[in-house]
Amino acid sequence: MINCIYRATEGEGIHVGRPQVFVRYQGCAIGCLNCDSKDTWDFLNTSTHTTEEIVNLVHEEGFKGKIKFVSITGGDPLHPKLLPGVIDLAKTLKNHGYGLNIEAAGARVVDELFEIVDFISFDFKTPSTGVKTSVENIRKIVSKYADKAQIKAVVYDRDDFHAALQIRTQMLDEFPQSKVAWVLTPCYNTEEIFPMERFQQIISWNEEMGGFFRVIGQQHKWIHGPDKKQV
Ligand code: SF4
Repeated sequence: MINCIYRATEGEGIHVGRPQVFVRYQGCAIGCLNCDSKDTWDFLNTSTHTTEEIVNLVHEEGFKGKIKFVSITGGDPLHPKLLPGVIDLAKTLKNHGYGLNIEAAGARVVDELFEIVDFISFDFKTPSTGVKTSVENIRKIVSKYADKAQIKAVVYDRDDFHAALQIRTQMLDEFPQSKVAWVLTPCYNTEEIFPMERFQQIISWNEEMGGFFRVIGQQHKWIHGPDKKQV
């Protein structure tokens, strides 16, 4: 169940700027209030592809295999309805020599998949999303996958910043050696004019607290506008 497959340059997180092919799965039941991909929610509005067809499309989009990194995103690619196909795709792409990133919404830790991929971008959902991420899930990422993961929190306001700071502090206490990357993504909503003031505030709050986080905006929204898809 695929929404789209497209080539683009990573626009957020610690790998910003890296060209890759995105495989965007269709279907998400998480319901973030500030979701910028609501067209991916519906599980029925789908086109089905075999794993082989997806690999062929990835090959074509990546200039006939020149781009060898794939980001699996959604939607929620870890949803049980999608997961078997995603695991099969991940194994097949690895066999074809691709590097893999999984965009994980924070709702599930899937060891069978996380052990295969090269990088895990794991969401910590802040209060403005209206969704909660379990502390236990964050703990598993910080303790087990720290060498290949980032924890990413979208920040809209000070409440969001403090929620991210609280979980970061708790995990630092529990796992002081963990090298997991902590990223704040200043919220840039669709149809919004670039929120310069929000960016500046988040950067200064982070500096005041000693720079616990890397503050990384969504570059693709600056370049193409916040509403543009498949960029
Ligand atoms: S997990 Fe992602 S796709 Fe699903 S509602 Fe949240 S932001 Fe949207």
